[in-house]
Amino acid sequence: MTCLRLLLGDQLNAGHAWFGERRDDVVYVLMEVRSETDYVRHHAQKVLGIFAAMRRFAEALVQGGHRVEYLRIGEPRNRHSFAANLDWLIPELQATRLERMEADEWRVEQALIDAFAASGLPGRVVSAGHFLLERDEAAARFARKVPRMEFFYRDLRRRHRILLDADGGPLGGRWNYDAENRAKWPGDPPAPSWPWQQHDLRALWDEITAAGVQTLGEPSAQSFGWPLTRREARAWLADFIAQRLAHFGRYQDAISGRSATLFHAGLSFALNLKLLHPREVIDAALAAYESGRADLAATEGFVRQILGWREFIRGIYWARMPGYAALNALQAKRALPAWFWSADTRMACLRAAIGQSLTLGYAHHIQRLMLTGNFALLAGCDPDEVDRWYLGIYVDAFEWVELPNTRGMSQFADGGIVGSKPYSGSAAYIQRQSDHCQGCHYRHTLRHGERACPFNSLYWHFHARHQPTLGRNPRLGMTYRSWERMSVAERAATLAQAEHYLARIDQL
Ligand SMILES: Cc1cc2nc3c(=O)[nH]c(=O)nc-3n(C[C@H](O)[C@H](O)[C@H](O)COP(=O)(O)OP(=O)(O)OC[C@H]3O[C@@H](n4cnc5c(N)ncnc54)[C@H](O)[C@@H]3O)c2cc1C
Repeated sequence: MTCLRLLLGDQLNAGHAWFGERRDDVVYVLMEVRSETDYVRHHAQKVLGIFAAMRRFAEALVQGGHRVEYLRIGEPRNRHSFAANLDWLIPELQATRLERMEADEWRVEQALIDAFAASGLPGRVVSAGHFLLERDEAAARFARKVPRMEFFYRDLRRRHRILLDADGGPLGGRWNYDAENRAKWPGDPPAPSWPWQQHDLRALWDEITAAGVQTLGEPSAQSFGWPLTRREARAWLADFIAQRLAHFGRYQDAISGRSATLFHAGLSFALNLKLLHPREVIDAALAAYESGRADLAATEGFVRQILGWREFIRGIYWARMPGYAALNALQAKRALPAWFWSADTRMACLRAAIGQSLTLGYAHHIQRLMLTGNFALLAGCDPDEVDRWYLGIYVDAFEWVELPNTRGMSQFADGGIVGSKPYSGSAAYIQRQSDHCQGCHYRHTLRHGERACPFNSLYWHFHARHQPTLGRNPRLGMTYRSWERMSVAERAATLAQAEHYLARIDQL
């Protein structure tokens, strides 16, 4: 009697109940397969990082006395899909039973349901033991009506007794310290650099390229930076708590050409691979608060991201898939500009955000939302293309978290499920939050004319063309009133400028 337990590249949770006991009748199976490297073109560091972390996890299992079957990307026996590999592994290992953890991505879950059914063997699916809300509960909660994130988050804070006072109310009397968390970063305090690792992954990179996997961005295989083991991820978490948490909240919405990472945690890659558990990340922040190393606004601002946004986004994904992936409420159809793959644009903010995405596989939230996402929204880019870009370019991009953030929060293609209004901004927002506008080819103060910042005219063009639907949104009342107050000539010149830019979108 042999049981095969399939482990995916984003299921590297050493704390899972599975690994608590060593069993001779269990073989853990991990596979590096083309079905996963090819469903979208990924950043080179994403492929490298996931495979390298899988290999290290498998080695740790072997050292712990577990039986492991590992299929490398370049092995001739590898048939490159979960189903095709199980087909020959089952007789080879004389398996009589199959087990797996719930997949986080709908596409993978369907493939595994089919593969397990086709095997004809008895099977079992267990929770991956990672999230604070089980997948079915999250999906059931949001099946009919999706609450606003704020109410969902308060509920989880009460349930997990996080940052509450003795009466069960929010510590400090407020649930939300967002208002204190919107400062522009003046350059001081200095933003400490992240504790990048120095892994030499050149041999793995050679295997990946020899197998013919197509990627984008820089591999940086010689000194690969992202954490690949639980120990490294724990050290990264400790570094964040010691060096950056205290300023995280205040500067979480800031953007700067002087720091690609500011006071952000850089934990999404480790969290999404399950090298870290969200509860241990939250507990580390709470301990910092309790010992006076971070104030309430910073701590609450960070906890909100993990306990609130991350769980909320996953709930929407599982409640609304597969239909969610096809939503296009604003009927956006335009191709993404070519410079999304080269960073070759004169807009300084986008050049920096896309440039660091290509070199690091990382941009922080406000760059994703208010620079690249905002531009694609205002220009009316097709959400399918926008999704593919986000799903490929970031090392932390897995569809369960990428899709509702991109299609929902950033592109409003879900018509208001994630957010109650589009996250749109003109150059005034970018100037207020960043230091990019000084020295940019374009002028943030101009709506039209030769050097007018494209964000300005595109902002008004977006609102004007969607006035029949968005004009009814009470949260956009001020925006539409400002538009109506502009003279007819000013509005015409602004719209003409936007048309001019849209016609030359690849040359911006
Ligand atoms: C268009 C768009 C696409 C995105 N795609 C992804 C993605 O593919 N994968 C991904 O993990 N995140 C995604 N996010 C959310 C967020 O931008 C990243 O989680 C964050 O930038 C990761 O960097 P960090 O660890 O330094 O985060 P920090 O800013 O330090 O935040 C701490 C942690 O909070 C969690 N978090 C914060 N915001 C969100 C959010 N909106 N949704 C889910 N978790 C959140 C993350 O786990 C993150 O590690 C996306 C956001 C946008 C606007």
